[in-house]
Parts: sequence; C-alpha cells; structure tokens
Amino acid sequence: MSTAVRGEHRTVDGMPWQDLGSCRGMDSAIFFHPDGERGRARADRVRRAKQVCRTCTVLDKCLAYALMTEQPFGIWGGMSETERQRLLEEHGLVSNKSSGHPRRVGGQQLPA
Ligand code: SF4
Repeated sequence: MSTAVRGEHRTVDGMPWQDLGSCRGMDSAIFFHPDGERGRARADRVRRAKQVCRTCTVLDKCLAYALMTEQPFGIWGGMSETERQRLLEEHGLVSNKSSGHPRRVGGQQLPA
C-alpha cells in the first residue's frame, strides 16, 4: 500500500516505489478491512483492491516489502494477509521469533 509506508526500496530511476503504486492517492480503506467486515462485503472489497494491484508497475516491490516485513493486514502486492502468510509457510520462510521477520526472502538470507 503505497500511502501507508516509506520503505527503502527504490525504483531504477531513484523514486521510492511507493510513489509509483497504482493505489497512490486512493482511499486506503479499500486495502484494509474494517472491524467486523465479513462475507460478501469483504470479498467484494478484496476483489476491488486486487484489481488495482493488477495494474501496478511496482507490484513485485510491494509484495516483497510486505513479505519481508510480514505485514499483518491488508492487500499488498495483490495478495491478502492470508495468502502472504500461506506463501511464507509454503516456502519455509517462517518468522524468526526474535526479530519478527522472515529469515529468507527471494533467496536472500536476512540478517538476524
Ligand atoms: S501492488 Fe497494490 S498495494 Fe502495492 S503499491 Fe501497487 S497498487 Fe498499491
């Protein structure tokens, strides 16, 4: 979610990737579920958020950031929190409990 974070990943032209996201300037409520949201309302909101991500040129950077930082909520890089958690688990990238971050992302070993 580009308006929610200021990471250190930069694009080739030096701009923060967050400034290039398709969601820039949008209401972040579409990407984060409100308390008590369930069923059809939640599915519709998630579908709309993922449609925005599909057009995004920095989707890969956004998803990598969300995975590395284990963002606990929201649609990032076209994936929900449940989908990201499943991906981390499938690839053995579970949290190091002392740091709270995955040990490896994209083949890179992260510092302890
Ligand atoms: S992938 Fe989705 S959430 Fe991430 S910057 Fe792009 S539009 Fe925003």
